[in-house]
Amino acid sequence: MVQSMTNTDTADAIGTAIQVKDLARAGSEVVRITVNNPEAAAAVPAIREQLDKMDIDVPLVGDFHYNGHTLLREYSECAQALSKYRINPGNVGQGAKRDTQFAQMIEIACRYNKPVRIGVNWGSLDQVLLARIMDENARRVEPWDAQAVMYEALVTSAIENAQRAEEIGLPGDRIILSCKVSGVQDLIAVYRELSRRCDYPLHLGLTEAGMGSKGIVASTAALAVLLQEGIGDTIRISLTPEPGGDRTKEVVVAQEILQTMGLRKFAPMVIACPGCGRTTSTVFQELADRIQTYLREQMPTWKKQYPGVENMNVAVMGCIVNGPGESKHANIGISLPGTGESPAAPVFVDGQKTVTLRGERIAEEFQAIVLDYVKTRYRAEAEAA
Ligand code: SF4
Repeated sequence: MVQSMTNTDTADAIGTAIQVKDLARAGSEVVRITVNNPEAAAAVPAIREQLDKMDIDVPLVGDFHYNGHTLLREYSECAQALSKYRINPGNVGQGAKRDTQFAQMIEIACRYNKPVRIGVNWGSLDQVLLARIMDENARRVEPWDAQAVMYEALVTSAIENAQRAEEIGLPGDRIILSCKVSGVQDLIAVYRELSRRCDYPLHLGLTEAGMGSKGIVASTAALAVLLQEGIGDTIRISLTPEPGGDRTKEVVVAQEILQTMGLRKFAPMVIACPGCGRTTSTVFQELADRIQTYLREQMPTWKKQYPGVENMNVAVMGCIVNGPGESKHANIGISLPGTGESPAAPVFVDGQKTVTLRGERIAEEFQAIVLDYVKTRYRAEAEAA
C-alpha cells in the first residue's frame, strides 16, 4: 500500500483535511498526520468528519512522539477517529516512565481495536537499548563494528517492542514494524535482517530521503531492492518538497516505483522516448507531459468508470526511428515528426495505424483519441465482466 504524510499543522483541521484529500485523490491509500499537541488531538475528529463529508474514506494514522500516552488518554475521540497509531519507541519516555507510557498507548489501541506501527528511526533510537546492545557487543570475543551494532539496535528495538505490545494484549496481526534510516545500503541491510527475524508486516521508507531527484533516486534504489525480494507491505517516499511544491509528488513516486516494477497498477503508463538531435522542437516533450498529466488527473474518475484502464499504455515518440515500432506495442501511440520528416504524426491503436494528425491541434486531437479509446475499450470490458 502507498502511504503519505501531511505537512500541515494538524490543529488546522480544514487545511489538513484538504491536504489529506489531495493526497488520497493522488492515490495515497493511508495518510499519516502528526498529533503533537492538545490542539492537534482535538482537531483529529473534525478532520475525519470533513473527509467523510467529502467522501474521502482514506484511513488516518496518528504520529505520536513524547506525549502520545497523554493525548490518546485525554482525547478519546481522537483515539477513535484514527485508524492506526504510529509509536516511536525511542520517543515514548525516559526511565521508569517509558514502559508505563508505552503500555498506556498499547492499552488504548487494544480498547479501540486499532493497529499500531512500531516505528523505529535511527535519529531517535532508544538510547538505553543502544547502550545495552553496545555492552553486549563489548563482551563479544570479536566485537562487531559500529555500523553492525546500530543495525542490531534498530532491529532489536522494533522486535522487542512488538513483543512487549503483544504481552500487553495487542494481537500480533495488528502490529506493523518499521526501522527507518537515511542511507540506501543501511536500509537494505536493516530490513533484510528485520524480515529474517519476524513475520510482522513491514512499512518501508528511506527517512529524510531529500529533495528532488536525489530523494527520488535514493528512495527508489533502496525500496526496489527490498520490494524485489518480497520485503515490504506499505511504503512511503519521504521527499522534501521544493518551496511551494506539491506534497502529492511523494504519492506519485511511490506509485511509479510499484508500477514500473510490475508489482501494482495505478494509472496508464506513458512511454516516451528521451528525444535527441532528431527532435528540434519541444512539441514532443510538451505532448508527452500533457498526456501524462491528463491521464493522472482523470484517474480518480476513470478508475470507477473504466475498470482496467490502469493497464493502458500510451506511447509518445519523437521520430520515425523508434516511433512507429514503439507505438505499435502500446494501446495507443503517436510518432511525431523529427527534423526533416514531413509534418505528420501517425497514430496507432492496438497496433494498427488509424489516422495521421497534422497541424497545430495535434495535442488536442490525440487527447480526444485517447479518451475515445478509454470510453470504448474499458467500458466494454466492464460490461462484459
Ligand atoms: S525515437 Fe527518434 S527522437 Fe526519440 S530518441 Fe529515438 S531517435 Fe531520438
